[in-house]
Amino acid sequence: MKLPRIPSPVTISAGFSGLGRALQESLGAREFGAEEGQRVIEFFGADPPECVFCGSQEVARWDHLVAIMSGGETVLGNIVPACQACDDSKRAEPFEEWMLSDVPRSPKSRGVKDIDRRVKRIEAYLQHFGYTPRCLEERLDKRELERLAAIRWRLQVLREDIEALSCDYRARTSLG
Ligand SMILES: [Zn+2]
Repeated sequence: MKLPRIPSPVTISAGFSGLGRALQESLGAREFGAEEGQRVIEFFGADPPECVFCGSQEVARWDHLVAIMSGGETVLGNIVPACQACDDSKRAEPFEEWMLSDVPRSPKSRGVKDIDRRVKRIEAYLQHFGYTPRCLEERLDKRELERLAAIRWRLQVLREDIEALSCDYRARTSLG
């Protein structure tokens, strides 16, 4: 008999990391739909579409070249088609460094041959759509930056309060 999936835990850490991402994303542009997706595929010209980092045709995701957490936005010029292996391996690292690095499942570690050509193609893509990544510090004005700092501080305090409550409760009830 096949049972339903065991509920996965939402850890305090995962909750706050989601909140941090939502905060970051709420302070940036999101102008990317099916039409923009089509323009990206046309720019790279592969049919069927392929992962811009390794050439795999198992394109599973749209990846942010500059990660949301590094100030990247969801706009033409910052979104590329990627396979799952590349997207999971890349995380928030700059794409060029990551592609040529030895981190597990990077294009270089997987023996992708034409990395230099691929890097140049991605750079041409950034240029074509005129995307210049600007971090939050450059996009927010002084007052907004102060508000952001205050929110981050409150999040930190809140997180510590939640962790302390959870810890005390688990100690009292021997939940470990
Ligand atoms: Zn890939």
